[in-house]
Amino acid sequence: MKRFVILSKEDDLSKELSQKLTIRLNELNYQLDEETPDFVVSIGGDGTFLRAIHQYIHQLELIKFVGIHTGTLGFFSSYDGHECEAFVQDLINDRLGYKEFPLLDICVNSKNGNEHYYALNEMRVENVIRTQLIRVSINSEYMETFRGTGLCISTQAGSTAYNRSLGGAILHEGLNLLQLTEITGIHHHAYRSLGSSLIVQEDAQITLESDDFCEAILCYDHLSVKLKKDSKIKCQYSEKTVHCVGRPNTSYIKRLKSLF
Ligand code: NAP
Repeated sequence: MKRFVILSKEDDLSKELSQKLTIRLNELNYQLDEETPDFVVSIGGDGTFLRAIHQYIHQLELIKFVGIHTGTLGFFSSYDGHECEAFVQDLINDRLGYKEFPLLDICVNSKNGNEHYYALNEMRVENVIRTQLIRVSINSEYMETFRGTGLCISTQAGSTAYNRSLGGAILHEGLNLLQLTEITGIHHHAYRSLGSSLIVQEDAQITLESDDFCEAILCYDHLSVKLKKDSKIKCQYSEKTVHCVGRPNTSYIKRLKSLF
C-alpha cells in the first residue's frame, strides 16, 4: 500500500484536510497516483465515498478504500476529520481493520444487448411522469405486478439510505440480504401489490419487466440512465466487492444512532 489518491468533498474543511493528508503521506514516502492507487481516501460523507467507488469501479479488486468523514458519522467511514493522524498511525503500523461490501449487479437487457451497472447502495426504477407498471419475479418465479412510481432494490449497506426514506427496514451489518421496496405504490380495489418491503436471500435474483419502460429511469447510487421501452432488468449481488479499511471494531449501533 504505497500509492494513494485522495478524493474530497468540495467544502473548505474537506479540501484543507485533503491537502494536509497529502503532505503527511508524501513525507512518509507514499506516492500520489491517480491512475493506479493502492488505496483511495475519501474525505467527506457517504456520498463522497460512493463517488470514489464509482470512479475506480473497474479497479476495485486492486484498491482499498478508506473513509474520513467531515460531516455526521458516515456508514462508510470510521475516522472523523480530526483523526487523520490516527488513520496515518493505523496505516503505518498495519493496524487497519478490514471490511467488504458486495455490490449489486444490475443487468439491463434490451434489443441492443446487455449492459451491466454496479451499485453499493441501491438501484431504483422510477417513472415520475406516469404510472409505471412493473412485473416482479423472484428467482424467475412471478410474484406481482406493481403500479406506482417505482421500485428500489437495496443492499445491506444501502438499507440506511434511500431505502430507509421509503420505510424499508435497516439491515444490521453482516446481513448481506437484498431488499425490495415500493416507491409510492398504488393500492386499491383494482391494483394490488405487496405494499411492504420484501427481504430476500443474498443469492436471490430479482427481475423487473414492463411492456413499456419509456420515460422510466434506472438510478444506481448517485448515477442514472434512461431505460428503453423493452428493457428487462435483472438484479442480484455481484462477485464485485468494495474492500474497505479503517478503524477496527467501529460500532454499527453508534453509526446508526447518528442517523436520527
Ligand atoms: P448525496 O447527496 O450523495 O446523498 C444524499 C444523502 O444520503 C446524504 O446525506 C448522504 O450522506 C446519504 N447517504 C448516502 N449513502 C448512505 C448510506 N449508505 N447510509 C446512510 N446515508 C447515506 O445524494 P445523491 O447523489 O442523490 O445519491 C447518493 C445516494 O444518496 C443514493 O444512493 C441514495 O441512497 C441517497 N439518497 C437518498 C435520498 C433519500 O433518502 N430521500 C434521496 C437522494 C439520495 P452524506 O451526507 O454523509 O454524504
